[in-house]
Amino acid sequence: MAPVPYRVVAKRAETAETVTLTLAPVGAAIPEPEPGQFTMMYAFGIGEVPISVSRTRPVLEQTIRAVGAVTGALCRAEAGQVIGLRGPFGTGWGVDEARGRDLVLAAGGIGLAPLRPAILRALARRDDYGRVAVLIGARTPGDLLFEDELETWRARGAQVEVTVDRPAPGWTGHVGLITALAGSADVDPSRAAAYVCGPEIMMRLTAQALAGLGTHPGRIRVSLERSMRCGIGWCGHCQLGPLLICRDGPVVPYESAVPLMAVKEL
Ligand SMILES: Cc1cc2nc3c(=O)[nH]c(=O)nc-3n(C[C@H](O)[C@H](O)[C@H](O)COP(=O)(O)OP(=O)(O)OC[C@H]3O[C@@H](n4cnc5c(N)ncnc54)[C@H](O)[C@@H]3O)c2cc1C
Repeated sequence: MAPVPYRVVAKRAETAETVTLTLAPVGAAIPEPEPGQFTMMYAFGIGEVPISVSRTRPVLEQTIRAVGAVTGALCRAEAGQVIGLRGPFGTGWGVDEARGRDLVLAAGGIGLAPLRPAILRALARRDDYGRVAVLIGARTPGDLLFEDELETWRARGAQVEVTVDRPAPGWTGHVGLITALAGSADVDPSRAAAYVCGPEIMMRLTAQALAGLGTHPGRIRVSLERSMRCGIGWCGHCQLGPLLICRDGPVVPYESAVPLMAVKEL
């Protein structure tokens, strides 16, 4: 339960309210996370929150949107500052299991952060996968994460489609809900695995659309979010039906998430 000290070695502003911190261990490191896993990040003296890993190697990165006291403090951390990490915790996307398949990675907003390690892993082992489609939805062009990396992902063999709810002057891309992009993924749905991360309504509708196009629901995974305390299945704070999300999630098969996501306010 003791946090391991990590130093912020670099900080990059992604959007007005979101930063990516590059972290290096002060002493011993935590084990390398799997894509989809999270750590409990501790802003000393303020509090600890679950944050997904947004890059696992060669450096550890975590991307944080300032919404409250702890995320606000983490976003204000500057290079040189020390924070605490516990983990990595939870389930991963299972990118290695999906070798040989086409991949669809669909992200809404900050949901691109937990998917980024899966994208980077698949592109680093490009020959192990069929077609790779990355579908991204953001509120406005200014809310897009990792914008300067999208061309690199395309150059490394991924189809990257971006849609925004509200375009800005000069925007020439798609406008509208990410669900409308599901059909534009240039993959064979019947042999694809799909990972979906974003607000619950976005995950529900996108997963439904992908299943409707022919991707087996058992190969669609979503990442659930609940308020957490211990991160290791002890305290019960993040219980959702039969699941403790910190231990049994956050990444779960869409099939097991469907009945839970269907219950409003659960
Ligand atoms: C497994 C997991 C992975 C996560 N990964 C990331 C990540 O990569 N990047 C990131 O920025 N955030 C991530 N989060 C969300 C993050 O943990 C919360 O934003 C954080 O706990 C808020 O703490 P706070 O003290 O800053 O704000 P609080 O004071 O706790 O909350 C401020 C406001 O945000 C709302 N809020 C708090 N927690 C959540 C939540 N989990 N979902 C929706 N609304 C919430 C509160 O209702 C309140 O309105 C993740 C959460 C989980 C469970």
